[in-house]
Amino acid sequence: MGGLMAARALSGRFERVTIVERDVLPDGDAVRKGVPQSAHAHGLLASGYRVMDEYFPGMMDELQARGAPRGDVVGDFLWFQYGRWKLRHDSGLRGITVSRPCLEAAIRRRVKALANVTFREGTDGVKPKFDATAGRVTGLVVRARDGGREETLDADLVVDASGRGSQSPRWLEEAGCGRPEETIVAVDVGYSTRVFARRPGEFFDSIGGIISGTPPLSTRYAAVLAAEGDRWVITLAGILRDYPPTNEEAWVAYAASLPVPAVRDLVTSARPLTDIVTYRFPANQRRLYERMRRFPAGYLVMGDAVCSFNPIYGQGMSAAATEAKALDDCLAAGLDGLSRRFYGRARKIVDIPWAIATGEDLRFPKVEGRRPPGFHVINRYLERVHAVASEDPVVCRKFFDVLNLLASPASLLSPPLVWRVLARAAPKGESSPWGTRRPA
Ligand SMILES: Cc1cc2nc3c(=O)[nH]c(=O)nc-3n(C[C@H](O)[C@H](O)[C@H](O)COP(=O)(O)OP(=O)(O)OC[C@H]3O[C@@H](n4cnc5c(N)ncnc54)[C@H](O)[C@@H]3O)c2cc1C
Repeated sequence: MGGLMAARALSGRFERVTIVERDVLPDGDAVRKGVPQSAHAHGLLASGYRVMDEYFPGMMDELQARGAPRGDVVGDFLWFQYGRWKLRHDSGLRGITVSRPCLEAAIRRRVKALANVTFREGTDGVKPKFDATAGRVTGLVVRARDGGREETLDADLVVDASGRGSQSPRWLEEAGCGRPEETIVAVDVGYSTRVFARRPGEFFDSIGGIISGTPPLSTRYAAVLAAEGDRWVITLAGILRDYPPTNEEAWVAYAASLPVPAVRDLVTSARPLTDIVTYRFPANQRRLYERMRRFPAGYLVMGDAVCSFNPIYGQGMSAAATEAKALDDCLAAGLDGLSRRFYGRARKIVDIPWAIATGEDLRFPKVEGRRPPGFHVINRYLERVHAVASEDPVVCRKFFDVLNLLASPASLLSPPLVWRVLARAAPKGESSPWGTRRPA
């Protein structure tokens, strides 16, 4: 996803763009080997939606025509967090729910149609080619997976968007630049997903929802996403090795252990279409390329290769899309000093989802990592934000601006908002998944 978005950004700035992809790419929406996570629920945040909508006009209409529902990310999507439903209301934040393979294929079709973009499928990026004297990268060494020989593709710019397993730290070290510092926050998340048939009106007439247990008491989550083809993609997830099972009965019991019965009700009434598939995700991982003293010109790293977040917060595709847009902007000033400009922007982009993901994860005492001063006080305040956002549309919208990576978490600490949050009595009584959409 990061590579496709980067190619779209680069196609307007360079004569030729080549995407080197290890997989032979499917024509349609299939889950493929290089992106095994695509079998699981992939939520697109409003920030990612905006970049994709801008880069590929008409694509969201096409996806909607194929049955991927579009809607308001607060009015049509449900959020149960910290023991309450967020106030369901029209927030003005647009989004779409769609399976990851379908979204990726739609983007890929559009990138393939760009006249100056070529795909080299079934080809490994082996390593970048460095010119040590000039202190720059001059191309990429590649090898076809069907037994071809190594060859070098000359390039003015090489972008590593090869995902979490990126070899850039090793390649840079071999080139004499040293390795980037790395921050790891281990979470040991397990995913377990099943696809069901979807009927109108189900799940409170929504297009999906996130149901979270309250940390640190509960380690369990569910993501329900309406997808094209009248389907629900339903993922159960557990942090700190509380892995959801694969056995059908135990899987339903896991769904029933969530704080509200909505997911259990859905999975016991809807018709399953697939087996249960699993995925394990060990740790949030961030590589601080922006801090490297020596960095070769003509080389960039982006997407999961820079930072991969605990997936339960649904941020990776949106962060990658926003980085691609930043790359586009940075290229307006040419190639000189590009890496400094890009990493400056990328750091700020990544800071927000990183703060959200690790901030939540570190609430679990068993998650190891540095807790900043005031961590517990801020968390108590954020719990209050969660509670008030179940009733107050202004606080709710501000909260979702942050969650959708459109505003920094610090914006929740602005004096007017803090006043509004603290002045309001703590909500009492049951919250509702219907909010302002309560049916007659
Ligand atoms: C279980 C799970 C659930 C997730 N849920 C969400 C979600 O709800 N919302 C969200 O936004 N994000 C989610 N993510 C994150 C999201 O999948 C990634 O952040 C997103 O795909 C961007 O990653 P990327 O493009 O950098 O890398 P990837 O998507 O991993 O793509 C890397 C590509 O590089 C190719 N490749 C790798 N090495 C080489 C090589 N040497 N040569 C050639 N090709 C190579 C691979 O085949 C692949 O095509 C989830 C992740 C996981 C694991």
